[in-house]
Amino acid sequence: MIHIDNGQCGMCAHFGEHHPEDPRLVQIRVNGEAPEELVDECGHPKHAGLNLKVAPHSSCDGFTPAQAA
Ligand code: SF4
Repeated sequence: MIHIDNGQCGMCAHFGEHHPEDPRLVQIRVNGEAPEELVDECGHPKHAGLNLKVAPHSSCDGFTPAQAA
């Protein structure tokens, strides 16, 4: 597991935004830890059409805080 800080993709509302109930996403937001192999979609509108996949410890200036689970 890797530690995820606020401001990183795992804590962003756009990370896996089309399946927010995924237990792995809930775990990141509750425990601040993510599986090392995890990658998921970034749903940010500026990335739409690019099928961007990011790791939980990636980041960008489009960060939007996810709702606390
Ligand atoms: S790439 Fe940016 S917008 Fe997409 S999930 Fe990561 S921080 Fe959020």
